[in-house]
This record gives sequence, C-alpha cells and structure tokens, in this order.
Amino acid sequence: MREFEVTVPISSKEERYDFRSEAAKALGVSPSKVGEITLLRKSVDARSKQIVYRLRLQAWLVDEKPEERYICPDFKNVVNSPEVIIAGAGPAGIFAALKLLELGIKPVIIERGKDVHSRKYDIAAINREQIVNPDSGYCFGEGGAGTFSDGKLYTRSVKRGNVYEVLSRLIDAGASNSIMTDSHPHIGTDVLPKINEKIREVITSYGGEYHFGERITDIITEGGVFKGVKCKSGSQFNGKALILATGHSARDIYKLLSSKGLPLEMKGFALGVRVEHQQSLINSIQYHGRYQPFMPNAEYSLVAQASGRGVFSFCMCPGGVLVPASTSPGELVLNGMSNSMRNSKWANSGIVVSINPGDIPEFDKYGIFSLLEFQSKIEVDSFDFGGGNLKAPAQRITDFLKGRVSERMPSTSYVPGVLSADLNELLPKFISSRLKEAMYIFDRKMRGFITEDSLMLATESRTSSPVRIPRDAETLEYLGIERVFPCGEGAGYAGGIVSSALDGINAALAVGRLPL
Ligand SMILES: Cc1cc2nc3c(=O)[nH]c(=O)nc-3n(C[C@H](O)[C@H](O)[C@H](O)COP(=O)(O)OP(=O)(O)OC[C@H]3O[C@@H](n4cnc5c(N)ncnc54)[C@H](O)[C@@H]3O)c2cc1C
Repeated sequence: MREFEVTVPISSKEERYDFRSEAAKALGVSPSKVGEITLLRKSVDARSKQIVYRLRLQAWLVDEKPEERYICPDFKNVVNSPEVIIAGAGPAGIFAALKLLELGIKPVIIERGKDVHSRKYDIAAINREQIVNPDSGYCFGEGGAGTFSDGKLYTRSVKRGNVYEVLSRLIDAGASNSIMTDSHPHIGTDVLPKINEKIREVITSYGGEYHFGERITDIITEGGVFKGVKCKSGSQFNGKALILATGHSARDIYKLLSSKGLPLEMKGFALGVRVEHQQSLINSIQYHGRYQPFMPNAEYSLVAQASGRGVFSFCMCPGGVLVPASTSPGELVLNGMSNSMRNSKWANSGIVVSINPGDIPEFDKYGIFSLLEFQSKIEVDSFDFGGGNLKAPAQRITDFLKGRVSERMPSTSYVPGVLSADLNELLPKFISSRLKEAMYIFDRKMRGFITEDSLMLATESRTSSPVRIPRDAETLEYLGIERVFPCGEGAGYAGGIVSSALDGINAALAVGRLPL
C-alpha cells in the first residue's frame, strides 16, 4: 500500500474520478496491478487561487486487502453479569458502557437528566421561557453536553485510543460514513438525539440499564472501597465499581468529594466571550471572495499570544447558532451548536483567554475551588449584566475595542435576546485587555474579522473543567476511593466529544482489569 494525495476542484456536481494512474505511479506499478483505492482523508483547501478538495488516498495492489478502519463490536449478553455503575450518560459514560458490554460486564447508567426526547422540551423552555431546569438542558440529560451541540468530532487526542472505534459506534447508530474520512467530521444536533436513542437501544438490548432522573448525591464506601451511590430520589444503586463521568458542569459532585475530604486538584481553563459574525463574511474571508453556494460554510481556528497568555477561538460553529447552556437559574453560560447542514446565516466561536491557578488572588481563599468560584461569579455577573431572563450582555466588536456601549445591535441567532452593555466592565481587566489585543491579531490573520456587524456576547466560560479529580496514571483509579474511575471532561482528562468517549472507553478497560 502507498498513500498519495490529489486535489480536485470543488464543484456543484457529484463527480466521479478515476485515480488509477496516480495510484499506479504511487505504487510504482502498471495500472493493471492496482487494486482498491481508498479514501483516507478529505479536506477543503482554500489557500491557492482555485479552491479544491485535498484527498489523501491509499493505493493497494491487486493482491492486497485494504485495511478496515471500521471496528466491529463484540457485545456480550450481560443480564446476569457483575454490575458496574456509570454516573452520567454523556459521551464518556455511554462509550464506557459500550466497552463494558464487550467485556461482559453489566453497565448500570445513572443519569440526573431526562432521556434525550424529553430533554428537548427543557431545551425549548430555556430558549422560549428562560426556565433553567438544573437537571435537564444543554448540559444535562441523555447524551450529556455532546448532544444539543455542534457535534464536531475532531480531536487532537489520538494517543488516547482508537478514534475509529468511537466513529464506528457512531456510524452504527446512524452517523454518516463520511465521518471516517472528513478532516473535520461533524454530526449536527438534528442527528445526535437519534444516535443517542440508538445507542441506548443497543445497551439495553444486551442487558445494560439506564436510570434517568436520578441525581447522585452520595457515594457509599466501606473501608475506602466503593460500594454504591445514593440518589436525590432516595434510590440506592450498588455495584462492583463506579465510572464517574458526570461532566464539567456537575459542580455538586466536586463539592461532594471535597465535603468528604477526598482529593481534588485545581486546573487551568479558559474564559471569554462568544463572537458572532455573518457566515457570509467568514466565507468571503476564508475563501478569498470566491465562495460558491455549493461549498461548505467556512470555519476558522485562531490562536494568539496576548501579553504572554494564550487567547484562542474555541468550538467554532459555522452555520450555527448561539445557545444558553446554563445549568442553574441565575447564571448565564453561552455555547454554540449547529445542525448537520450547518446552514444558519451565522458563524460563532468562543474567543477565550487561558486562565491559570493563581491568576485571581482574590479568589485564593476558595482553595482548590478558586477557579471554579471565579468561573461561577462571571456566569452570575453575566446573567445580571444582561438584565436577567438569560439575555446576553453584548457589544459590537468595534465598540468593545473603543470601550463604548453599542447603540444599535446587529441581528443575532441567540433566541433569548441580547442587552447592550460594555463587556469591558463585566470582564476582569486581565481578560478584556487580552481579548482586545487578540482581536487585532485575529484581524491581521483574517482581514475583516473586526467589523461593526459582528457581536461579542458574554460569556463563554465552560471550555473545560477548572477542577481535576486525580487518578492513578496507570490504573486510572481515583486517588480518593478504590474502585472509582473518574473520566471524561468532568474529571479533567478530556475536552470534547471524542476525547471524552475515548477516556470513557479507557475507564471501562481499567474496570475490566479488576477482579469483579
Ligand atoms: C452547546 C454545546 C456544544 C458543544 N459542541 C461540541 C462539539 O461540537 N464538539 C465537541 O467535541 N464538544 C462539544 N461540546 C463539548 C462536549 O459536549 C463535551 O466535551 C462532552 O460532552 C463531555 O463529555 P462527558 O461525558 O465527559 O460529560 P458530559 O457530556 O457533560 O456528560 C455528563 C453527564 O453526567 C450527568 N450528571 C452530572 N451530574 C450527575 C449526577 N450527580 N448524577 C447523575 N448524573 C449526573 C449529566 O446530566 C450529563 O449527562 C459542546 C458542549 C456544549 C454544551
């Protein structure tokens, strides 16, 4: 096998190409000796005059068998198997459950939120009536924070495990095969709920269990070893081990562990704003004015050093919308999502500043929770600044840079609406000044990024967890309780759908190494 690369013009027509001669050249054989040609990676390249698809292909000889990237599952019936509790039905929890099925262990998933269908009503209530259900919304419920999301699947954490395993299970559940080859695979929030339902069908058909509406409020131990969990409803679930996959918004879990004197660590995170442009502007900048309607809406990824600190774009959603991802009444948290077509007229991303432990001395009194308390304060302040009712305090980028309140607001995708405010007054100076510096750098990288037609909205604060639940590097077992396996974004070891899923798989494999 030899890999080779070709470029083909992006076209409105479905084109069929024959790369036999290129494959023969790559293999150094005559075209008759070329077997299958498989697509490894497809990306859009807009760097030169002609916008092209860049295809990375694999050429196989006639007698070679192409490598299969799809990974077949080997689920076992676990009805009478030892039970392992999984706290949280987000990507980490669900993928841990699928792996337990392969290991012949029964996953018992305890989820504070609702099933993905019922969850839709709470999502509607946040947007239309500004009612935040603290157990069900954009972050909590079946599928976790990864469901009413953008569904971007690219990850840099390839060393963590086999990304194709995660993609294979998503394809089994209804995602397009193209996620295996797209350089920036994406699913979309219109498809993700069905995928979660399908995965639940698989897990329960082999004997796994889901318990919705059960918020874990205590972890029961005997002699420092895990025994079971207690829920707010009064139910108790016992198991041989606990996979703790409650996500970065489950602050009550951090507080629970801390109240028991168990170890936690502070961890840096990033905080800033969401920026929303017209997608047509981003297309025009990224495609150098040559965008055609049949081309995918353009993305961007920006990084800058501002006064010695990293400022970067986060979770960019082309053709997406802004959503209120608050998990408690009285706080405002923004995030972005899109559907599979990515066809809204807006483009948004978080523009965030890295924050390190020790950056905010006035919060030092909260010990390991100092960054979490800081994060929480900014979210409450943003809510108040917006006048309550989840309206987002917002400002044109140009006005933010000049420190003046915007008189009129451009249109926005954010359904609860915006209130004109000076974000320089809301955000601490060490953040707002770096955001300013970075905006000028970004505008040099993407001419037109600073425009009076784009909005900055506060606040993007849940980029990752400001707390880590420490675990043994080898066994992945929690340093506080034996047979507890913290994983995913809430444990501070992952960030994003795929990396959390991989971390969940690793936690399940670690459980599988225990005598049960
Ligand atoms: C709007 C939005 C858009 C996003 N877009 C993307 C994207 O495009 N690509 C990407 O990679 N990432 C995206 N993310 C981030 C991604 O969703 C998370 O990184 C990922 O979901 C983390 O997975 P997890 O399983 O570790 O935790 P979570 O997904 O947070 O899941 C944790 C689960 O635990 C449950 N839980 C919490 N506390 C308890 C308790 N006490 N008892 C029982 N259950 C509990 C929660 O209800 C939740 O279902 C987005 C997030 C949001 C909010």
